[in-house]
Amino acid sequence: MLLSDDAIGRAAEALVSGLLVAFPTETVYGLGADVFNVAALERIFAVKRRPRFDPLIIHIADMDALEGIADISSLEPVSREKLAALSRCLWPGPLTLILPKRPAVPDLATAGLATVAVRFPDHPVAQKLIRLSTGAIAAPSANPFGYLSPTRAEHVQEQLGAQVDIILDGGRTGIGVESTVLDLSTGLPRILRPGGTSRERIEAIIGPVDNSEQGGILEAPHSPGQLKSHYAPRSPLTLHCPGDMIALPYRASEGYLFFDGKSRDAWYTAQEPRDARWIRTLSETGSMAEAATNLFDQLHELDKSGCSIIRVEQAPEDGLGSAINDRLSRAATMY
Ligand code: AMP
Ligand code: MG
Repeated sequence: MLLSDDAIGRAAEALVSGLLVAFPTETVYGLGADVFNVAALERIFAVKRRPRFDPLIIHIADMDALEGIADISSLEPVSREKLAALSRCLWPGPLTLILPKRPAVPDLATAGLATVAVRFPDHPVAQKLIRLSTGAIAAPSANPFGYLSPTRAEHVQEQLGAQVDIILDGGRTGIGVESTVLDLSTGLPRILRPGGTSRERIEAIIGPVDNSEQGGILEAPHSPGQLKSHYAPRSPLTLHCPGDMIALPYRASEGYLFFDGKSRDAWYTAQEPRDARWIRTLSETGSMAEAATNLFDQLHELDKSGCSIIRVEQAPEDGLGSAINDRLSRAATMY
């Protein structure tokens, strides 16, 4: 969808004056506010019903803005080199970096932490909006806390609607899962949330990262994306490994989401369903990128369809598969 420069300019003015603007990024839609406006930040938490212990990601659109929110000089030299390499190779892109915070960033944006999460999104609308406003926009995903992430402007409209001042409709998002969150503030870089940038890509640039918390489910999370229940639909969701999925008997009231065409076809042969009302496939050919793009979209569709339960097949664990499985395991109500 083409958005006029005028529409983006008006939205930027709204941000500067303290209003909330939902906008497309390459991962999911964000609910944006000027990071230096505490009243606007308060509204983000209220509209999303987001607990205040869950810090926000600050979105920038040039490297100068980074200096204004993160205290790069206080990083160890080796971490500074890693930041330089990652920002050069992977920004703009679906990678959020945790860095020491500047005092100017309101504590509300970082949940009182000494660190701040920063990302440079790879989306022309997001970049233009950020550049035309204050240059640093706090933006969590534009959904009620804990619910499926929005990959279309319609999802934002349906879920948050009138509570958002402006929704910029940039069409469907490309990557479909949120950014990878990587903590650079301590010695060994640590993945706090798997996402749109695979661990393999990060390690090819900066060497080994601590992956022990990726996909971890923590009681007291370092990053609320680690909460046990998150990214969830309203209907119950069960997660199945490929072998188990094929053995599931067809029930007309249930929804089925297969990873690829091959396992769906094997299930059809084994179970001979009478109709295909609520049967979806993340990627016909098993493309991980396509599966990630379709994930929240198809979950939204199944969730709205009225099926009694959504049964989902796990993705293979490699590349973006770990981000897909991470979201699915947090969306699952039963195993
Ligand atoms: P979202 O709400 O979908 O934008 O996700 C933001 C993610 O970034 C959440 O998992 C946050 O917990 C995480 N995050 C933001 N700031 C920090 C921080 N300073 N330290 C660790 N995680 C953070
Ligand atoms: Mg979110």
